[in-house]
Amino acid sequence: MSGGEVDEGALFRALFESVADAILVVDGSGQIVLANAACGSLLGYPPTSLRGRSVETLVPPRFGEHARQCERYSARPSPRPMGRGLQLFARRAEGRDIPVDISLSPVTLAGRQFVACAIREEHSRLQSLDTLRVQATALRSAANGVVITDRTGTITWVNPAACSITGYSAEELVGRHTRILKSGRHDQAFYARLWETVMRGDPWSGTIVNRRKDGSEYQEEQTIAPVLDENGAITHFIAIKQDVTEQRRIQAELAARVTEIESLNGQLREQAVRDPLTGLHNRRYLEETMKRDFSRADRSGESLVVAVIDVDHFKRVNDTHGHAVGDRVLLQLAEVLLAHVRSSDLVCRVGGEEFVAVMPHAKMRGASKRAEKWRTAFAARAVEGREGAAVSCTISIGLARYRGAGEPFSACLRRADEALYAAKGAGRDRVASAEDDLPARA
Ligand code: GH3
Ligand code: MG
Ligand code: MG
Repeated sequence: MSGGEVDEGALFRALFESVADAILVVDGSGQIVLANAACGSLLGYPPTSLRGRSVETLVPPRFGEHARQCERYSARPSPRPMGRGLQLFARRAEGRDIPVDISLSPVTLAGRQFVACAIREEHSRLQSLDTLRVQATALRSAANGVVITDRTGTITWVNPAACSITGYSAEELVGRHTRILKSGRHDQAFYARLWETVMRGDPWSGTIVNRRKDGSEYQEEQTIAPVLDENGAITHFIAIKQDVTEQRRIQAELAARVTEIESLNGQLREQAVRDPLTGLHNRRYLEETMKRDFSRADRSGESLVVAVIDVDHFKRVNDTHGHAVGDRVLLQLAEVLLAHVRSSDLVCRVGGEEFVAVMPHAKMRGASKRAEKWRTAFAARAVEGREGAAVSCTISIGLARYRGAGEPFSACLRRADEALYAAKGAGRDRVASAEDDLPARA
């Protein structure tokens, strides 16, 4: 190619128009004298329409300094990036601001000063700056305490929540080692495990008892995450903290309440099935238990005997010696019954001076012997009545053997009652068996 064949002016124009960066040429008064095609897509104006406009059209109004900066540049023009270290923005035709990098080059033509501005959209920095700003705001306003340390544990940043948890100001915390918060509640091994975990590059989570500035202790749930650089080396640790002191206190209080309520409930349940005078189980308990025991006895075909025990002429005791003495007689009967039972037997006070004993695995003969033992042992005992009188009573006992084949407990009890009635009728102070069962000796 020889120089003669090329129109250099045309070449320069074509070059100017085809450059990917938007290029504006501005004169000394700040008026745009030239704009290339790329200005169209970057700034949203038809390039020719930019000519004659003030360059201020493209500057977001919040940069009030721009006109003065232009003056300063004109005083000492040199090719250089504009606003080094600053995030620059350009205002597009429709009013939207876009992040840009701008390089300035002074141009002198025929004694006049111009500035050529090469403008390029800046994507990545804006995004990362934006992201950073959002994240910093999130961390600052987080309800959790956030503490950032260097790799040795020296605090480099804290958020306001961390300050309110610890009672220290940010100035008091930054530059100090996190051990400023140590309560002394954990042993060396605890911290050794923590450090071992995070130095390995793993996050650590757990509850730590720490100490506030005012000396009070608090419990914090903490997650400590190591921050790694591109080579995998730890540069920082980020600790996210939550003060759980109050929560733990309430939990402990609740747990104590629940235990207390459970124990009260247990006591109530127990009271509901106990006779307060003798401490024996009551009729309710007997009936509930018997429903179970009878169906078991039914399944296994085991033998079982029910005894009904009633004090003879008990009314007289009350009438002669008073209710309190009567109560002592009842207590004594309970004692005697319990003294001669097997551990599997169940003795209940089912009414005023009426008791029921259920003897699982017992045959009628064995049960009769036991009943005789109760009768003689009780007759031999006495309580102190009015004016020191010795009050002794006798009992009558009715026995019935469980018949199996689905006989309800109430039916078996009724037969034992009938036997008791027979014993009373036969003169009291004796043991009688239900009809059809082996007769007990009177
Ligand atoms: P029987 O030989 O026919 O059984 O005569 P009894 O006097 O024992 O007759 P009954 O069974 O009708 O009387 C029971 C009495 O028990 C009536 C009541 O005053 C008394 N009693 C009921 N509960 C209690 C109690 O908790 N304490 C005392 N001291 N007496 C009670
Ligand atoms: Mg009686
Ligand atoms: Mg009675």
